[in-house]
Amino acid sequence: MAPLNKLQEKYDYICIGGGSGGVASSRRAASYGKKVALIESSPNLGGTCVNVGCVPKKIMWHAADLADRLRHASKGYHFENVPPPQFNWASFKPQRDAYIRRLNGIYEKNLEKEKVDYYGGTARLVSPNEVQITPSDGGEPYVIAGDYITIATGGRPTMPSDGQIPGASLGIDSDGFFDLEDQPKRVAVVGAGYIAVELAGVLHTLGSETHVLIRRERVLRTFDPILQDTLTPWMEHTGINIHKNTSVTKVEGQKGGELTVHLNDGTQLKVDCVLWAIGRHANTEGLGLEELGIQLDKRGDVVVDEFQKALFVEGKPQLENIFAVGDIQGKALLTPVAIAAGRRLSNRLFGPEKFKNDKLSYEDIPTVVFSHPTIGTVGLTEPEARQKYGSAVKIYKSSFRSLYFSQIEEEHKEPTVYKLVVVGEEERVVGVHIIGQGSDEVLQGFAVALKMGARKQDLDDTVAIHPTSAEELVTLR
Ligand code: FAD
Ligand code: NDP
Repeated sequence: MAPLNKLQEKYDYICIGGGSGGVASSRRAASYGKKVALIESSPNLGGTCVNVGCVPKKIMWHAADLADRLRHASKGYHFENVPPPQFNWASFKPQRDAYIRRLNGIYEKNLEKEKVDYYGGTARLVSPNEVQITPSDGGEPYVIAGDYITIATGGRPTMPSDGQIPGASLGIDSDGFFDLEDQPKRVAVVGAGYIAVELAGVLHTLGSETHVLIRRERVLRTFDPILQDTLTPWMEHTGINIHKNTSVTKVEGQKGGELTVHLNDGTQLKVDCVLWAIGRHANTEGLGLEELGIQLDKRGDVVVDEFQKALFVEGKPQLENIFAVGDIQGKALLTPVAIAAGRRLSNRLFGPEKFKNDKLSYEDIPTVVFSHPTIGTVGLTEPEARQKYGSAVKIYKSSFRSLYFSQIEEEHKEPTVYKLVVVGEEERVVGVHIIGQGSDEVLQGFAVALKMGARKQDLDDTVAIHPTSAEELVTLR
């Protein structure tokens, strides 16, 4: 990055945080000819998704998926001379990292192209219109001013303290997963959400002995029960050791050496790596939010209205020019959500008249879990629908093995299970919940249909594409 003149500058718009939300919002504002600044504290632009989230995670998922396919090739599809897959983590990681560094560069170039001024440093709001930047290169702090300011500082993994669980800091979080130079032979993953399921799946499929420690009976507790009930036993069937109704009481050992994980039932596990995947929390510290009176909820997320405008505590000036997008506002922690909210905010603030009410709807957001097999889900779960619509809810379901697995031995045939939640006489589709090979790619189009208010009849009227798994969703009876 070319060093910027460290004089105070005045901007139309300042975005704090160079992740999915901040980059998208700043570029959209600049596309309308506004003078825009973006501040990022990490040397690597792109935020969580690019550096320690979606992108490296999906690359690792592809590696794991390939391992499965190599096994299928030799065992099921009669390819000869296919040795059992041996993943070389140590040589793959630098290649993966190099790709991420390339993306960081592309992000920077895109800001340049769009004429967004990029400041490398840590930002702090010092007045309703001023942001202090402490440069990453150790230089003196300075201040820039902006008419509108958006906070898009994202979040970070939650780790228990050593006070809460002695030895917890011997473990790593998802950021640490992406730093691993070698594949751990034995891993204990603590948690039952997206990250625990995805990273445990990758580790197991690539050959690590994998334990998943969950507080309840099933993984993905907030997802439709059909997904929980299909994935949890399937993970166990593939050889992942799921320890249910379990909590960690203590971790002992040396970082980099063998760790002993003590569980609440008095048993112990010997592993090489403990990976905490128990949720994330917002990066709000040191931003000057309390001084301005910006409201935080009890989880510590910034409270915003439907237009992403930050809300203020009573007794403080109720400012109209400060916004928050992405993980920092705590709803739907997903990259496309941060991007869509950021872009729509800039459309509304700086775009043409037709965008004067632009905002993101947080309803019916499709999402995928990159488990093995993948999960896709959009809309209401069955329990949510029953709570909202009572007996007007009807369920269509199908459970089958995709044709791909017809040639694979019985014990490796992955399940596919599809569920539609429909409501009322017209059978409007309010939920689509699918698990099975390809669900990650299948869901997007069905999410469009749900968003458009599709009825079951509309799906029935759509001719199936054969032979696919997705065709089951238009032939359910
Ligand atoms: P971030 O991308 O986190 O960006 C915030 C930026 O602000 C960071 O770069 C940070 O360094 C910077 N910052 C913080 N404080 C300051 C400060 N004071 N001054 C200046 N800069 C600051 N989502 C999906 O949709 N699909 C997936 O497959 C997926 N996989 C994921 C896998 C993992 C392991 C994780 C952890 C997350 C995943 N996510 C996924 C979620 C996704 O990464 C986040 O929802 C998304 O990155 C949020 O974007 P954001 O802009 O809100 O925050
Ligand atoms: P999640 O909120 O998805 O899951 C956290 C899990 O941790 C819950 O399942 C909870 O399980 C468990 N948990 C919470 N506290 C404890 C504890 N003290 N001990 C043991 N278990 C605990 O968080 P993640 O960290 O997995 O992911 C954060 C967010 O990032 C996700 O919500 C998602 O929005 C995003 N993400 C998206 C991905 C994608 O789009 N594919 C992939 C990865 C992340 P329970 O309450 O059931 O016990």
